[in-house]
Amino acid sequence: MAQYTLEPFKIKAVEAIHLTTRDEREAFLRKAGYNVFSLPSRAVMIDFLTDSGTGAMSDHQWAGMMEGDESYSGSVNYFNLKRVVKDIFGFDQFVPTHQGRGAEQVLFGVVAGPGKIIPNNTHFDTTRANVEARGSEALDLLIPEGLDPTNRHPFKGNMNISALEKLIERVGAANIPLAMMTITNNAVGGQPVSMANIRETKALLARYQIPFFIDACRYAENCYLIQQREDGYRGKSVKEIASELFSYADGFTMSAKKDGLVNIGGLLAARDPALFEQLQNRLILTEGFTSYGGLARRDLEALARGLEEAVDEKYLAYRIGQVRYLAERLLESGVPIVEPPGGHAVFLDAKRFLSHIPLGQYPGEALAIALYLAGGIRTSEIGSVMFAHKNADGSEAFAPLELVRLAIPRRVYTQSHLDYVAQVISDLYRERDAVRGVRFTYQSPRLRHFTARFELV
Ligand SMILES: *Cc1c(COP(=O)(O)O)cnc(C)c1O
Repeated sequence: MAQYTLEPFKIKAVEAIHLTTRDEREAFLRKAGYNVFSLPSRAVMIDFLTDSGTGAMSDHQWAGMMEGDESYSGSVNYFNLKRVVKDIFGFDQFVPTHQGRGAEQVLFGVVAGPGKIIPNNTHFDTTRANVEARGSEALDLLIPEGLDPTNRHPFKGNMNISALEKLIERVGAANIPLAMMTITNNAVGGQPVSMANIRETKALLARYQIPFFIDACRYAENCYLIQQREDGYRGKSVKEIASELFSYADGFTMSAKKDGLVNIGGLLAARDPALFEQLQNRLILTEGFTSYGGLARRDLEALARGLEEAVDEKYLAYRIGQVRYLAERLLESGVPIVEPPGGHAVFLDAKRFLSHIPLGQYPGEALAIALYLAGGIRTSEIGSVMFAHKNADGSEAFAPLELVRLAIPRRVYTQSHLDYVAQVISDLYRERDAVRGVRFTYQSPRLRHFTARFELV
């Protein structure tokens, strides 16, 4: 039986969930063109669309919001944040940004450009877009195990080091302004990266004098999974693990909407003083002054406190425990998921779940629609609707995986919510033959998943 980890908090404010009937959901879906992105949040009972900026702040963070010192420059809250960034990450030089892509835009605005190549274990979509917007190439160098949903490798987010070395040899270090490591590796299922892999990546890059940057959105979850899964880290605290991990980094970007436990915010840090000066100058041009970076100072205080709460091991045991609990409940009912589960989400394998639906009828999208209809659960398709591209003859090259992501917001849902979700999904799995595929009735040329409209086949 799946074990649930006690929530290390109790609830002080509640937000109503609007309960709906299947008939009501059917009407909402028709109005939304069968695209769950287009549903109003009030039509959703359990919202697993994303874990980004959807978490609950603590009373301590809310109290900090009242202590916002809204001075344009040098506010108290900036210095509080600076102390925490130094304490956890070991960086003296950092700037706040309005969210993760703000940090990316500033960083790649300075270091990227035509002809340059940025390797990453796997780029998140905004990271890729910011690299490509500067005319550079964004290259994903993941280990092969990372794309096999049934392979139980403990660190499926790892960088493919030999591929990275071949790349450097082929294009030359001068064309690689930096290499990045995304922890956890969001695009392949929140899969962690091992410390050994980070150390080896750093050693290789150091030989060629290529700076090593970390996309740190879910660094605390990654450090917790290192503690749980990697030899030699059982006895270390998550904070000690984070200290070691960031000691290998020359800089990092972070969307604080994940392990910053805030609803908006980001960070950008770099050790090299000359580079940092350029980053500051670009930040002032696009985000805001260096001591607030596009945020209210009360947001900086919430972030300083959130960063500290997110490395608390009781919190992380509960957080990762929720993901594992949901995964285990689903496995008990035979539901096909990506194994082992990563840090922030459970991924359903729609190819195996709906094996009767051909790829051309988008099994991932079909499953996301069916989950909403069955239980008011909103998820997102991570498959061909999101990632397919067109072949030269106009036909579609399908994505390697057809997944449906159940991203769990931080500190928002309780065990009974997860039990409800597990029940809805296992009931649907038993009745899966009745689920129908979909076809597009509208699609935009780029990022079509956001605005597409569908009908059931
Ligand atoms: C969310 C995310 C980003 C972008 O952050 P935003 O705050 O959404 O702009 C970048 N990288 C990864 C790995 C992410 O998960």
